[in-house]
Amino acid sequence: MRRPLIAGNWKMHNTINEARALLTALLPQVRGSRCQVVVCPPFTCLAAVAELCAGSEVGVGAQDVFWEEKGAFTGEISPPMLKEAGCSHVIIGHSERRQYFGETDLNVNRKAKAALQHGLVPIICVGETLEEREAGVTKEICRRQLEGALQGVTAAQAEAVVVAYEPVWAIGTGRSASAADAQEVIAYIRELLSGRFGKQVAAKVRILYGGSVKPENTAELMAKPDIDGALVGGASLDASSFASIIKLAEAACGYQSN
Ligand code: PEP
Repeated sequence: MRRPLIAGNWKMHNTINEARALLTALLPQVRGSRCQVVVCPPFTCLAAVAELCAGSEVGVGAQDVFWEEKGAFTGEISPPMLKEAGCSHVIIGHSERRQYFGETDLNVNRKAKAALQHGLVPIICVGETLEEREAGVTKEICRRQLEGALQGVTAAQAEAVVVAYEPVWAIGTGRSASAADAQEVIAYIRELLSGRFGKQVAAKVRILYGGSVKPENTAELMAKPDIDGALVGGASLDASSFASIIKLAEAACGYQSN
């Protein structure tokens, strides 16, 4: 059975001091969780957050990565730098990066491969805009983004990948996809993974839902058979909301650790 993953995307929020306050409230509430929990702060907080989370169940992820190891790439951060800062995960291809920073499927692919080569778990985001949903091309968009992201990734590497289905129209809007719609697209993503890497690999890959996840909609979403967790934006900035989401996910998906 897949262990649920709840990842908090802090986006461009939290100074080191604010991160300390948030984690001081969060860590005691998630002790012993059966979910895997990861927080993804801005680059400037990564090392401090990793130190604060050391010895807890909470892992640390970055919100982006560059594919080269080092060199003249002003403003970029490499996989070894993230590892050194204490990261285990990295979000790649978030719709805000696609929308505001020109992230392409090709770059998402380079970043995903670089992350995997350096032992970072890529959380690869895919999802359609409102216009695309209304035009009935949701699955086509997710297929294009997923196939683009996974070009040249081996089956052995694919097992470590996390996919986050995040409909763009649901991000930060308070309007979540229905659990049934999210399950339908996520089941389709698993079918694509099965076609590409085989059933066994596809059964191991965790696929998250993201887009206005909050305590009120967590249980219904997480009860769906193909939804293995959540990528949480706004609600991850509040310790009690994020802790509630983790507890509700734990209860809803029935995962038992050995
Ligand atoms: C996100 O940033 O990935 C996200 C899903 O945001 P929110 O939960 O605020 O919609």
